[in-house]
Amino acid sequence: MRIIALHEAAFPVQSTMRNAVFSFAEMTTSIVAVRLDSGTGNGPVTGYAFNSTGRYACGQSMRERFFPRLLRAKPESLLDASGVLDPAKAVATMLVGEKPGGHAERCIAIGTIETALWDAVGKSQDLPTAELLARRYRGGPMHQKVSVYVGGGWYRPGGLPQDVADEIRSHQESGYTHVKIKVGGASLDEDLRRIECALGVLPDSGHLAVDANCKFERDEALAYATALAPYRLRWFEEPCDPNDFSLMAELASVYAPPLSAGENLYGMQDVVNLIRLGGWRSGRDLIQVDPPQSYGMDAYAIMVLDLEARGWQATSHFPHGGNQMSLALAAGLGLGGCEAYPGVFGSFGGFADGTVVEGGYIQPPQLPGIGFEGHSALYALMRTVGAD
Ligand code: MG
Repeated sequence: MRIIALHEAAFPVQSTMRNAVFSFAEMTTSIVAVRLDSGTGNGPVTGYAFNSTGRYACGQSMRERFFPRLLRAKPESLLDASGVLDPAKAVATMLVGEKPGGHAERCIAIGTIETALWDAVGKSQDLPTAELLARRYRGGPMHQKVSVYVGGGWYRPGGLPQDVADEIRSHQESGYTHVKIKVGGASLDEDLRRIECALGVLPDSGHLAVDANCKFERDEALAYATALAPYRLRWFEEPCDPNDFSLMAELASVYAPPLSAGENLYGMQDVVNLIRLGGWRSGRDLIQVDPPQSYGMDAYAIMVLDLEARGWQATSHFPHGGNQMSLALAAGLGLGGCEAYPGVFGSFGGFADGTVVEGGYIQPPQLPGIGFEGHSALYALMRTVGAD
């Protein structure tokens, strides 16, 4: 088994949505295509991935550093004991010559390539990537049901607080039970009206989370924490700068309901800092690292296992990104659930065509690899990358 070719291309994410801090109008993402000689008689396979949502395309470092390192490596140096390509060894190879720290400068490019390798390896073994992950890291089969929640409640030009109620009703009609809405993009009073409107159509506050997208300085973060606490929401996500661990710890000391963060953390050390310095509470708070943006699926699985040894259950993890890469990890490792973006982020949101949401759960696709072939709009884009 060996890597034959690596390609990347940048695409717009096709969204004009806005959170508390920025709009996605200019946002791009990189699709990676890796051609693998499967060595099984099945012929070559092509694995794909994209760098999720919220970080721009990063093809330059792939072309200049990471692709050449993989292609220069001796093919056998990237294989496991059974002769199958090991994505963890590919990451180690890509990191040769890289200075410690400064993770965000490379972890998104490396993580996207690594995730594409998992897709290719799954196809070479004719197994879902979720099943490979389950066998490798759990010693058992993949989960056949994954809890999903809607990452929604975006701010729209001219929008009214009651719009979130209409949006949530439509999600409920599609089978979703739990939703997350944005806060911090309006005044505290208006955000509280949005929350009240949302709660008006949900069974209880345990079905609603809010996301501030790192918007708040200390005073505003504490004001929101004070105002939100009585609602006992499912979680309060990213109240402040993702690296302000002392403010995180202060919030955790005064805000009793669950907090969450992680989509802007880029490695194990960042997550350990969140727990050690940010005061994150096991059994209560949540961690939401984005797999392809943080060195990929192996790094994600190692993080989950490492944190389990520190008393953090796998159900504390909700990978960021409503896409099939997060879904594969949630199904493979038995995580708390997976985000979903119904109707937003164009081809880069959503799961396989025809995926049915029932009582807030979906069934992962039983396709070889991550399952991109089941998502026709996304796969149509992916097929153009590296096509001769
Ligand atoms: Mg978020």
